[in-house]
Amino acid sequence: MEIDKNKHYEIIVFPNQEEGLKAQRALLSNGADFKHISTLAVVVPKENKEEACRAIVDEDVLVSGHYPFLYRDYEEDFFKRAQEYKVLESNEEFLKSITLCYVAPCMADEKKIRLIGYFNRDITEILPYINAVIKGASYNKGASTLTYAKERRLINLYNIKITIAKADDIIDAWVILDEVKNLVNNTYSSRDIIKPNYEEKVKVTALQIYGWLPKTNCRACGEATCLAFACRLLQGEQKLSKCAPLSTELKFAENNKIMQEMAEALGVA
Ligand code: SF4
Repeated sequence: MEIDKNKHYEIIVFPNQEEGLKAQRALLSNGADFKHISTLAVVVPKENKEEACRAIVDEDVLVSGHYPFLYRDYEEDFFKRAQEYKVLESNEEFLKSITLCYVAPCMADEKKIRLIGYFNRDITEILPYINAVIKGASYNKGASTLTYAKERRLINLYNIKITIAKADDIIDAWVILDEVKNLVNNTYSSRDIIKPNYEEKVKVTALQIYGWLPKTNCRACGEATCLAFACRLLQGEQKLSKCAPLSTELKFAENNKIMQEMAEALGVA
């Protein structure tokens, strides 16, 4: 299938190569229109999405999610980058795989994607070591979570899962997942020479963020309340700049400064 810039397409993503290959076989045997991106994803015309999904699901293939294909990706030679992408595998590694279980557009910016992946094992024991390796990470021992920002992307590591918000596209997400896998494995293999850091950075809650907001519920940010905005901001689904009163009114200047620093650390500025 050739991509026509005047038509709309969807990217369908699969949790692993096995499911991706099963899906491609199902689409081929149904004579479906699709473009293969890699073993982990296909592009289908938007009007054929339901039909393609039915063909895939009829073969009991697991789907992680789907989101609109953006021509921005096409212009940046998206397909070429996808074909060049290699899944790194080694049976000797501490963390062998991350299974992609959820992919969808970011609510605050539909050009970005958010996703959830599951580790093949619990990485709780490595989190304090990663906390020592990554500058500016926020570690929560009780909840077994570690949060850090990679440029605009917000990455949360849990005991058995990872969430990423604001990835550019599926290729960007795959690259980050590989980086995380390498980070976990390299940290594990060097743990004898790393001093684990159990320090928990000041944990920011939605209520604390709410405390720094104007609390006028003016809805200028598109949310019904300032608290809703705070929750969405914490999830990486809103932008601080969307709160116009905070950035424009002099009386909120101090709060704005605090929020800017906090949002930078969380990667949601
Ligand atoms: S724009 Fe700011 S002040 Fe207005 S409701 Fe949203 S968070 Fe509150």
